Amino acid sequence: MTSLRERDAMTCRACGKEERASEGYPCVKCGTFVCVVCNMRGVVECRACAEKKIPTPKWLED
Ligand SMILES: [Zn+2]
Ligand SMILES: [Zn+2]
Repeated sequence: MTSLRERDAMTCRACGKEERASEGYPCVKCGTFVCVVCNMRGVVECRACAEKKIPTPKWLED
């Protein structure tokens, strides 16, 4: 079963952990892998995109 696990494992670009690729989601900005754990916590962007993100303009917060 190790070979299957290795093939399915990807490094989450938000938290840096190796998680199952089949259970993760793509970053909404660049499409890189973000794991399901991060996604459940509301993280939909990889760390690189999150750091590049400009502060949310007030007119978008309502
Ligand atoms: Zn993650
Ligand atoms: Zn990204």
